[in-house]
Amino acid sequence: MEKSMFGRRFEGKVAIVTASTQGIGFSIAQRLGFEGASVVISSRKQKNVDEAVGKLKAQGIEALGSVCHVSNAQQRKNLIEQTVQKYGKIDVVVLNAAVNPSVNPILQTKESTLDKLWEVNIKTSILLLQDASPHLSKGSSIVFISSISAFQPPPGMAMYGVTKTALLGLTKALASELAPHTRVNCVAPGFVPTHFASYITSSEAKRREMENMTSLKRLGTTQDMAAATAFLASDDASYITGETIVVSGGTPSRL
Ligand code: NAP
Repeated sequence: MEKSMFGRRFEGKVAIVTASTQGIGFSIAQRLGFEGASVVISSRKQKNVDEAVGKLKAQGIEALGSVCHVSNAQQRKNLIEQTVQKYGKIDVVVLNAAVNPSVNPILQTKESTLDKLWEVNIKTSILLLQDASPHLSKGSSIVFISSISAFQPPPGMAMYGVTKTALLGLTKALASELAPHTRVNCVAPGFVPTHFASYITSSEAKRREMENMTSLKRLGTTQDMAAATAFLASDDASYITGETIVVSGGTPSRL
């Protein structure tokens, strides 16, 4: 990606993206940064945070890094405090962290695994927004990262899919609670080869199978997800709230 390819829709804006040192989160931070935002990136590991901040700064992006395991209350508070201390406000929050710790059918999933799925994929986003909300600017924007599996939870990752379904409801609920001050929307990615979804490219046959599930006959890129997220977070989407955009190359999701 080249900085010069994009507009400057986020000039003067401050954006927090969780779980953003690689994959979809990193590309979202990069895209918002290319468009003029000061971006605050985070993940569990200091080394990953430092490397990601270095990459963004090398591309001329104003970036701050903070270690934040989304399940750690103190680290969530630090993330918000450091952002406000440095930039004075929050205009965009992208909630991108998720786990998928089980391949079992739902009724054979351990209670501790169910708790972890609820905690990381849903609860911590709510808690982070509770900390962020006093600092959200007028006209601010929140974007959840759900999944195409929200619409038809697939076997082998069904409970993960159900947590992603919950994000569609959370998007609607928060959109009405936070209106008109803040818009709340959601992106549901299709198949994107990342560390998290390495199964997609585990073999050439698997990759082709996944590509053939899309109408466009290709996997998604992290940049595809970043483009949709940036649109929803920007003033171009100023009359859109409570909605989910599926970014899946036409993989069936709903009517
Ligand atoms: P990824 O490339 O594996 O990146 C995951 C990022 O999250 C890393 O920066 C990692 O850094 C960080 N992270 C992991 N656990 C964390 C935690 N507990 N707290 C804070 N940061 C954490 O993953 P991805 O594919 O981009 O996935 C991002 C989002 O997209 C997820 O919500 C996922 O459900 C969704 N999604 C992905 C796909 C796909 O096909 N890839 C499809 C649908 C939806 P550290 O290791 O340093 O923590």
